[in-house]
Amino acid sequence: MSELVDLPTPVAHARPATERGLVDRHGRVATDLRVSLTDRCNLRCSYCMPPEGLEWLPGEDVLTDDEVVRLVTIAAEHLGVREVRFTGGEPLVRRGLVDIVDRVHRAAPGLELSLTTNALGLARTATALAAAGLTRVNVSLDSVRPESYAALTRRDRLHDALAGIEAAAAAGLSPVKINAVLLRGVNDAEAPELVRWALGAGHELRFIEQMPLDAQHGWSRDTMVTADEILASLEAAFDVRPDDEERGSAPAERFVVDAGDGLRGRVGVIASVTRPFCGDCDRVRLTADGQVRNCLFARGESDLRGALRDGAADATIADLWRTAMWPKAPGHGIDDPAFLQPARPMSAIGG
Ligand code: SAM
Ligand code: SF4
Repeated sequence: MSELVDLPTPVAHARPATERGLVDRHGRVATDLRVSLTDRCNLRCSYCMPPEGLEWLPGEDVLTDDEVVRLVTIAAEHLGVREVRFTGGEPLVRRGLVDIVDRVHRAAPGLELSLTTNALGLARTATALAAAGLTRVNVSLDSVRPESYAALTRRDRLHDALAGIEAAAAAGLSPVKINAVLLRGVNDAEAPELVRWALGAGHELRFIEQMPLDAQHGWSRDTMVTADEILASLEAAFDVRPDDEERGSAPAERFVVDAGDGLRGRVGVIASVTRPFCGDCDRVRLTADGQVRNCLFARGESDLRGALRDGAADATIADLWRTAMWPKAPGHGIDDPAFLQPARPMSAIGG
């Protein structure tokens, strides 16, 4: 069991005491915080979880609503965080979600708040989330064919997901971005179909390369669908040109796709594996049980929950957070022969 536990982040010896933000030893500054609200989920996407699910975090280990609000407020007030994305697991299964968004929005009104979700149940909560201060949603949708969706997610819920996406757009949660992972032999032939659907609905679609973050450790470099393959399949179907807009720290390479019949818009490709963008990374992650992870692929993490529950002051917690950030690795190292997948899968880190 011990090999399944990520280690504490090594102590950073040389972090300058003058740094106020979340700076690392390679000069990157994290301003985008991903907050996982739960490791639980109502889908079982095959590239993420086994069919039987996982051993969920015990309830007492999960940060309470008050603790989440406090940590996010510290990040905004002390650490220069400007954007917060709530994720999971599936954040919509967290009972207090609307209230958490509302309280964070009131405590730190300058923060941009967004959600990454599978959209199941979003039809019921989109309006309340928008009223609470959420501005945007990213929805994971790997297929618009009921049978592929069910094969991929192991649940027959495409209809609910589509209803959630529509409700998000109607509630003004804009832009709605759609994330899709392609799996060889499952939905890799569906890229043009997904693009046509997204352009028709007015959503920006981004294809994400599959990463070695599944709980089953089933990822293989040889079978993953690469960004080059995704682009080739789009180019075979459409007129595809690189987008001139500045990319900045955004992970997606963007393209303008003309699918004919007036269907034209942007499509992104997030080549996390084959064209990593670690040098521009501005992200930091907080797990549902209060651990800071300075990288998705970090093998270490730093406990903030313990300090919080021991009564630490905001300034002390902020300092622990800065210390956790400083040793961030320069890159994910997937190509390194010594690469080891982190013990926590994506669903327990917060994607
Ligand atoms: N449940 C929510 C959802 O699916 O949007 C939020 C959490 S999920 C872990 C966040 C994102 O991670 C989703 O877009 C999902 O497709 C992606 N994801 C999960 N496992 C992945 C993997 N092994 N490689 C690439 N992306 C993955
Ligand atoms: Fe759930 Fe998201 Fe993982 Fe799919 S990708 S199983 S929706 S956490």
